[in-house]
Amino acid sequence: MSKLPDVGTTIFTVMSKLASEHKAINLSQGFPNFPVDEKLKSILKEKVKEKVHQYMPMPGDEQLRKKVSTMIEKQYDTSSNLDNILITAGATQGLFTTIMALIENGDEVIILDPSYDSYDPAVRLAGGVPKRIHLNGDFTPNWHAVNNAITAKTKMIITNNPHNPSGRIWEQRDLDHMERIMSYHPELIWLSDEVYEFITFEGRHLSAHHLPKFSERIIITSSFGKTFHVTGWKIGYIFTQGTLMEEIKKVHQFNVFCVNSVSQAVLSEYLDHIDVNQLGPFYQKKRDLFRSLLAESKFELLPCEGTYFQAASYASISDAPDTAFCKELTTKYGVAAIPMSVFNADGTDNKTIRFCFAKDDNTLIKAAKKLCRI
Ligand code: PMP
Ligand code: GLN
Repeated sequence: MSKLPDVGTTIFTVMSKLASEHKAINLSQGFPNFPVDEKLKSILKEKVKEKVHQYMPMPGDEQLRKKVSTMIEKQYDTSSNLDNILITAGATQGLFTTIMALIENGDEVIILDPSYDSYDPAVRLAGGVPKRIHLNGDFTPNWHAVNNAITAKTKMIITNNPHNPSGRIWEQRDLDHMERIMSYHPELIWLSDEVYEFITFEGRHLSAHHLPKFSERIIITSSFGKTFHVTGWKIGYIFTQGTLMEEIKKVHQFNVFCVNSVSQAVLSEYLDHIDVNQLGPFYQKKRDLFRSLLAESKFELLPCEGTYFQAASYASISDAPDTAFCKELTTKYGVAAIPMSVFNADGTDNKTIRFCFAKDDNTLIKAAKKLCRI
């Protein structure tokens, strides 16, 4: 008996394991390989000496929630307060808890493919029915298809912007479409996964925060793991309010009760020392370096507007399915990447793979050399 009979081990685990077994450069699973900020480490060193080792308040440390709330107000020119913030054990727990709290048997949930792999199983475990809709070929949302998919049973739409795995970001017209959808469907809940909210390049991140008139039906998830290069700390937050927050907290208290106390205390202080707006330029340099190094390769590099992922087509190199190609890339050429087809419910394979460029320059140079030999 299995509740998820079709689910195996995630592609991130599979590819990272394969990379390590074959001593390949791991550009598959998304995590930085460079050292974390010295300032963060020094705060950690000091904080552990303090009284920060017992349960935190259930929704999270008050100071941390206040500071996150202030950061959101500044960033999105909106109003917020600490009650809008729930500290979660990574965005994954925020997403899971939200879905468990709000989705009931038979509720339909719209998910845009290729989609992050945790959404669909969470919806099904909650008794919901995922409606997986393809993005357009260029990974922009297909609003016509989204509109067509909405029925009387649709309870929620989950979006992800900036988008993993493609690296695309929304334009104003996408936010306008979402605004119309929220207006036409007054019961619809919008779960907006914005874990890469601070990693955009030429374009500005257009957030669900920009539609405050729907704030009672919006939940936004974010991840300190992405923002502060500490994916292993598994800490993030949810932004929402009113009944949604009440219902989400009911589940949160039995899911984790509260999140790791030391990391909350450390991040609360760290927030006084950093400027999240530096993150975009920081990763833009890496994107530009990686793209320039691959310019002479046979890979076709797709637009990368945000996140730390570069999507690439290998259609001119091989006809193999993308999962087989990624395995070959790892075992034969020494670079691990993620096949995109695994993020599509119907397994659509456009011969496109994802490289993570959140790596030190030396790693990117070495990886690119190997990729240019193909
Ligand atoms: N959503 C997306 C789109 C992601 O890429 C990730 C992971 N990297 C998550 C959610 C989960 O974030 P976390 O590691 O904070 O749980
Ligand atoms: N979010 C990261 C990625 O997309 C990995 C998350 C995980 O390993 N589950 O690569």
